[in-house]
Amino acid sequence: MPPIGIFGGTFDPIHFGHLRLAEEMAAAIGLSRVLFVPAGQPPHRGTPRTAAAHRLEMVRRAIAGNPRFEVDAREIQRPEPSYTVDTLAALRAELGNEQPLWLLLGADAFLGLAGWHQWRRLFGLANIAVAARSGAQPLQPDALPDELKHELSQRQPAVGPAACAAGSVLLQQMTPLGISATAIRDTLARRGSARYLLPDAVLDYIHEHQLYLYP
Ligand code: ATP
Repeated sequence: MPPIGIFGGTFDPIHFGHLRLAEEMAAAIGLSRVLFVPAGQPPHRGTPRTAAAHRLEMVRRAIAGNPRFEVDAREIQRPEPSYTVDTLAALRAELGNEQPLWLLLGADAFLGLAGWHQWRRLFGLANIAVAARSGAQPLQPDALPDELKHELSQRQPAVGPAACAAGSVLLQQMTPLGISATAIRDTLARRGSARYLLPDAVLDYIHEHQLYLYP
C-alpha cells in the first residue's frame, strides 16, 4: 500500500519552500499522494490574516498540474479550531489502519511539536517526516526539547514499502530555501516584488484579489 503524505500549514500564502518540501519528501519516501491541508484557525498561532477561501484557492492554483498533490479542505470547513491530531484521526478512520501515513513537517514546526494538542497521539496515527529548513539549526538531537528527544529515542526511522503505518520518525535534508510567508507578506505590503518566491499563478491571484497590500 503506497504511503500518503499529509502537509498542513497556514499557507498564507503558499510558496516554493512548501512545494519543494512536499516534492522532495514525496521522492524520498515514495509517497503516492500528498494532501495539502490548509489550517482553519491554527491553535498554535494567531488567526491567519487572509480568509480561508483565499488560502485554499492559492493552494489549489499552486498544486494544479501535479498529479500527486491534492488539497484537503476539511480544516477550513470546520467552525472550531483545527488540531492536527483530529485531522489525522479522521484520515486514519477513512483510510484504514494499514495505510502508511506520513505527516510532513518543517524543522521549526517539529521543534515545537511538544506544544501541540495531544501531541503524543500523533505518533500512533502517522509517521513523521521532518525537513531541515534553511536558517534553522541542523536538527541535532541535543537541540530538541527533552520530552521530544525521549519520544524520538524510542522510534525507528523507516522508509519505503517496509515502513509501518505509523510511529516512525524520519529526519530528511531538503534543498534549503529561505522563503517564508511572513517575508512574502512584508514584501507585498511594501509593494515589492515577490516574483520567483512562489508560483506565478499564486502571485496573479494575490494581485487580482489585492491581498497583502497592507502590513
Ligand atoms: P509564516 O511565515 O506565516 O510563519 P511559513 O512560510 O512558515 O509561514 P507555514 O504555513 O507556517 O509557512 O508552514 C507550513 C509548513 O511548511 C511548516 O511545517 C513549516 O515548517 C514548513 N515550511 C515553511 N516554509 C518552509 C521552507 N522555506 N522550507 C521548508 N519548510 C518550510
